[in-house]
Amino acid sequence: MPENGPELLHRTHGCGELSEDHAQSGEEVVLTGWVHKRRDLGQLIFIELRDATGLVQLVFDPSINGAAHGAAEALRNEFVVGVHGKVVRRESPNPKHPTGTIEVMADALTLHNRAESVPFPVTEETETNEEARLKHRYVDLRRPVLQRNLRRRHALAVSARRVLEGQGFVELETPMLTRSTPEGARDYLVPSRVHGGRFFALPQSPQLFKQLLMVAGFERYYQIARCFRDEDLRADRQPEFTQIDIEMSFVTPEDVYAVVERILGEMFLAAGIDPPSEIPRMPYAEAVRRYGIDRPDTRFGMELQDAGPSAEGSGFKVFDGAVEAGGSVRGIAVPGGAAASRKDLDRWTEWAKKAGAKGLVWIKVQDDGPASSALKILGAERCSAIAAAVGAGAGDAALIVADATDVTNSVLGDLRLRIAKERDLIPSDVWNVLWVEDFPLVDWDESEQRWVAMHHPFTAPRWDQLDLLAEDPGRVRAQAYDIVLNGTEIGGGSIRIHRSDVQEKVFRALRIGPEEAQAKFGFLLRGLESGAPPHGGIALGFDRICAMLSGADSIRDVIAFPKTTSASCLMTEAPADVDERQLKELHLQLLSQQNIENK
Ligand code: ASP
Repeated sequence: MPENGPELLHRTHGCGELSEDHAQSGEEVVLTGWVHKRRDLGQLIFIELRDATGLVQLVFDPSINGAAHGAAEALRNEFVVGVHGKVVRRESPNPKHPTGTIEVMADALTLHNRAESVPFPVTEETETNEEARLKHRYVDLRRPVLQRNLRRRHALAVSARRVLEGQGFVELETPMLTRSTPEGARDYLVPSRVHGGRFFALPQSPQLFKQLLMVAGFERYYQIARCFRDEDLRADRQPEFTQIDIEMSFVTPEDVYAVVERILGEMFLAAGIDPPSEIPRMPYAEAVRRYGIDRPDTRFGMELQDAGPSAEGSGFKVFDGAVEAGGSVRGIAVPGGAAASRKDLDRWTEWAKKAGAKGLVWIKVQDDGPASSALKILGAERCSAIAAAVGAGAGDAALIVADATDVTNSVLGDLRLRIAKERDLIPSDVWNVLWVEDFPLVDWDESEQRWVAMHHPFTAPRWDQLDLLAEDPGRVRAQAYDIVLNGTEIGGGSIRIHRSDVQEKVFRALRIGPEEAQAKFGFLLRGLESGAPPHGGIALGFDRICAMLSGADSIRDVIAFPKTTSASCLMTEAPADVDERQLKELHLQLLSQQNIENK
């Protein structure tokens, strides 16, 4: 029997690995870990010991070793110990627990460390607020649920790597200190000490580097890459996040799809979920028409429909005005919506207005004729016909929006999701993966009064539409694609422009002049001029995929040390002040708050 002492450092087994077999053979074991729970029954002390593999019950009996029992009296939650003992069958098993049929009769104990301050209990569920948990993340991470999430994250990364490695992809790192890549967000800037007054940008993505790796002849590249985007507060975004970044030479979108489908399939399996047997494709225009959004959740119906001929020439100003202005009158059917309360209808109307509609017309399909917010103006017959046109049957409600078509679609798309969530109409055990393709190349930016790239400016237009670029950029479609899981975009990519003359045309359409293009992307243009192969790729949002496949509500639950939604780290208290000397070295001077506000 080993003495109490530092030798109880190397465990023979993991707590969660012990089973009845070990009890059968009366195995003597050394375990190490944390005191998860302690019950002192006077004579006997019971400890639940936790390590990376799970939990097991220890029993300290003074008749076995008085000294060890005495030492166990001083143990408290989260103390770190090593124990020696014998595995025995438990007299009163706990069927809820994987190791609940056995326990370890401890005969020696080493206290490796005390836990002087434990800010909150280490439990599966927690009531502790997230702020406290993020501040003491090292304790929060001990909770079994976070242990599982992060271990799953690791398993998912391994499965993606295996697929990519099996297909001849080379993992290469690209610089963190670089210059701006336009992905549509603000850059995090890093001042250069050596080059006073000049700045690096942290990469929003490795986009240009991965393209240049294709120019360099690697043909198949991947990287589990950290990206940085300084975006305004948005729920469940992180200023730094991880992408599985992929680029391939001599490919069509189909080749990229095939690789991604293999990766996702393996990730699903690693998460214990049946992979989708087939991943359908949907053109962007169809997604917007049917679901009002370019990342449709196809797990349920309630599709957007035209309100049909009855909505035209009705004399109802709202409808007629929208149609005359070139817009549309469209709606969704809410199953069982005829029983909606006044409060429900008011809330839905509020949601519609918040999403940009001027108002919402509701029609309830009831046995004794329709009820509607516009019954007086439209009349019962029209109301019934409109409700039928949008798919509302007996007992349902139709919700109608009339406006410019993009407003109608986005409002209804938003309502569809919110109402389905609220009424629990979305099946939770379904995994619908979908490719959305055929995106427009550009989008009109009203505030800047110019076309902006819908994906990024390196995305290839359809090769047969190059002539349209100068004439009518709004009609050009991109060779871009997104992959969507249950209504969440989990990846996006494109075939790229590999010829500098085409890249220049696209820059021109985006009103990026030759000088600006040379200054910002000269290295890319020179690369394209030096024998660039046709190429394309994608980036998968790894944090998001991990969260979804772990059933986590937030990506913070699958990131070891996440930041808050306001982009700060509560544990390290970053971002932090720096001292004058550092600022000076960096050639920086801070403006006073008042100066900043006046700028
Ligand atoms: N660079 C793009 C992004 O980060 C993805 C891609 O086009 O591969 O969203």
